[in-house]
Parts: sequence; structure tokens; C-alpha cells
Amino acid sequence: MKKNDLVQIRIETMGSTGEGIGKIDGYPLFVKDALPGDLAEVRLTKVKKTYAYARLERLVSPSPDRTEARCPLHRRCGGCQIQALSYEKQLEYKEQKVREDLIRIGGFEAPPVLPVLGMEDPYRYRNKAQFPFGRDREGRIVTGFYAGRTHTIVPGTDCAIGVPENKEILELILAFMTERGIEPYDEKTGKGLLRHALIRKAFATGELMVCLVINGRSFPYVEELADRFFKIPGMTSFSLNVNRKATNVILGEEVIPVRGQTYITDRIGEISYQISPLSFYQVNPAQTEKLYRTALDYAGLTGGETVWELYCGIGTISLFLARSAGKVFGVEIVPQAVEDARRNARLNGIENVDFYLGKAEEVLPEKYEKDGIRADVMVIDPPRKGCDPACLETMLHMAPERIVYVSCDPATLARDLKILCADGRYELQKVQPVDMFPHTAGVENVALLTYRK
Ligand code: SAH
Repeated sequence: MKKNDLVQIRIETMGSTGEGIGKIDGYPLFVKDALPGDLAEVRLTKVKKTYAYARLERLVSPSPDRTEARCPLHRRCGGCQIQALSYEKQLEYKEQKVREDLIRIGGFEAPPVLPVLGMEDPYRYRNKAQFPFGRDREGRIVTGFYAGRTHTIVPGTDCAIGVPENKEILELILAFMTERGIEPYDEKTGKGLLRHALIRKAFATGELMVCLVINGRSFPYVEELADRFFKIPGMTSFSLNVNRKATNVILGEEVIPVRGQTYITDRIGEISYQISPLSFYQVNPAQTEKLYRTALDYAGLTGGETVWELYCGIGTISLFLARSAGKVFGVEIVPQAVEDARRNARLNGIENVDFYLGKAEEVLPEKYEKDGIRADVMVIDPPRKGCDPACLETMLHMAPERIVYVSCDPATLARDLKILCADGRYELQKVQPVDMFPHTAGVENVALLTYRK
């Protein structure tokens, strides 16, 4: 087989980024936009020794699990890889993926994976989006989403998984830029001002935030733009973020307030959270509540426990657990997030929490060795790359009764669970997948490990 060959295959399963996978004589082909159950004609785009990538050319016989995708741009945009797959099947594939990773990477024979907790209405769920600005081939100012794996902007202001307010805000910005001659940033030349618009909405309170990421320190006619933003119901926060570097990282470090607060206030369960532009905050509030309730349930708190939460962000889980625990300690690397976490504790009148700023892999071993800290329960919620080995090792020394591992990547979860369970002291009780990102291949999990006496 060689590049540009046209072949017919049956798609059997789904890969980790939502691509369809089929085989020809045992040789796997990865096909973007093809779904399990499709019989498809595909063209090879990249041929490797043990596998190849291919492009979907024609559906010979579409999968019975296909459905009408709501967004007309879903194939071009890099956001929703599996929007054309029925939601029910999306959940099935996610459960299967978690199980397969735990078997293949984690070495568990029959992992205790529960059915995925899905959404009733899997659209308009995201509370946050970051829209890049640029110019199209005709020179018009555009905003939308990057096409998969590129920085080509697919123009579009009404994302089907985002809030309806995105459209109004983005169109207002586009019109303002044209009127006032404001240049979008150009990655090639490093010139131009507006890079991204970060829009966040607090679903529980309706508060809206706009933060414009700019290649500079001021925005022309900014008060006039603020007047327009603040006519939109719910708008309570407008700020600028300075990013002058030639980088793919969207946000810079400095936030300059323009009008309103530099944060918005949201609620999950009974806890209120103030969220600033730089802080990590779960993007799907309806599912976040299910995720946190599962974590709380797995933590099995009775009121007196000492809990350590690593990678705590703005303290969302820590505060969610605090009312049921004796004392909660959170560790987080982003200074603004720790500030938010402390403020959020005060905001809710919660006094039995402490937050430490630093790397989990440094703070935890140091506190353990110097102060001999202990934990009844440990909760960890690391980024995609998983938990640092130094953390895992310290956790094994600390030997908490329960470890609750919240993870956004089943592969690194499986890798870390293998380490935690290696010497038989911990047992994997259950893994609850939660669908935080419908129409994408992503799946969040909460795993419970208990100490064997
Ligand atoms: N539990 C929180 C945040 C989870 S996201 C929530 O549900 O909202 C992971 C968090 O880990 C981010 O806030 C990130 O800033 C933080 N982080 C990343 N690397 C870290 C490290 N080495 N040590 C501590 N925190 C880290």
C-alpha cells in the first residue's frame, strides 16, 4: 500500500482522538471523520510500517449509528470529532476505551468500570471558549475555531456546544474591529493586536466574562467597547490579557481589568466559586456536579478525616469535600488559582481548608518528610500527563485509607493506577467515567482505590 491509494474498509472501532479505525489484512488504518460501522472508501495520506492514516472519501454504506450532526462545521473544525455518532454510541465507545486502557496499559484483568454518566442534552454545555482572530484569504477579519491540527481559522461564531451568547459577543467584536480599524494578530509577522477572545459564563448565576488576549498593553477605544459589552445581559467582567510572545499558549500572565470584576461567580452544588480568566475551571458545569458528587461519595467522609487534594485548581473539589471532612489541604501550582481558592474558601465561610502553592511533586514529599503529614483520604486531579512519580511514591508511603483519582486521560490514569496497585496494598474498587466532553473523544474518570489491611 502506498500514499494516495484508494481502498475500501469497514471501520471497527474508535481511536483515542475520535478517528475511525479499520483494518486491511491486520494492517490498521486511522481515518478522520469515519465512524465505527461505516463501510468507507478512503484515501491513504500517510503510510507507515505498521499503520497508515487515511482520509474519508466516500461512505459506501454509512454506519447505522450515524446521526445528523447539529453543527455544519463539525468536520472542518477541530473541536467535535464524533458529533455525527449517536450520543448513546458515543457513551458506549467511551466506556469501552476506558476499559481497554485499564486492561492494556494498567494491566487489570477485569477492571471495574461503570457505565458512563452522560448528559440529557449534550449540546450548549461548555461554559468557556477561546476564539482566535485573524484574516481570511480575502482579507476579511474572522474568528472561529482552528481546524484540526492547524492554525487555519474555520470561521464560525455559533458553536453548538458553546453558549448562545458567544455569537453576540463575537459579532460585536468583529464589527468593532472593522469600525475602529483594529488589527487581528498575525502569527507569521507577530504584528496586529487582538489574538483571542476568552468568553466564560457562570451557568448558575448567568454572569458573563470577556477577556481579550492582546499583543500589547492597551486596546483602542476600550471604554466604548466596554459600553457595548455591558449592554449584553449578564455581562459583569471585561478585562485584557497581555500576551506578546510568539507562542501557541493562548493566555499571557498579566490581566488588566477594564470594567466590572476580574472574575465571575458560579455555583456547583451549594458552593460558590469566583473564577478569574487565568484559573482552570471545569468547562461542563452540569457534568462537573456529577463528577464532584462521585468524588465526594468515593471519599467516604464521615466528618473527621484529614484530606489532601493535589492539583486542586481554584479549590473546587477541596471546598466541595470540606463540609464533610475534618481538614482539607489543597496543593496547586498556579498562583492566581491558589488566590482564588483562598478567596473561595472565605466566600463560603469554610475555615477547615489550607492551600499550598507549589508543585505537587515537591510540596507533598517535602511536607511528608519534614512535617510528617498524614492523610485519611487523598484526592488527585492531575492534568492530562497524569501524576508525577514522586507524588505517587509519597502517596504510597503515606498510605491513606482511600485514594480518589480524578482523571481526564484514561491512558495516564491506567499507567498511574498500575503503579499504585503494584504491590497489592491498594485495590481498585471502581472507575466511574463521566462524559464531560460530549462529541469529542475525551472522557473523564473518577477511580477509587482502597488500602488493604
Ligand atoms: N481539581 C481542579 C483542577 C484540576 S485541573 C478542578 O476540578 O477544577 C489540574 C490542575 O493542576 C490545574 O489547576 C493545574 O494548574 C494544576 N497543576 C498542573 N501541574 C501541577 C503540578 N505539578 N503541581 C500542582 N498543580 C499542578
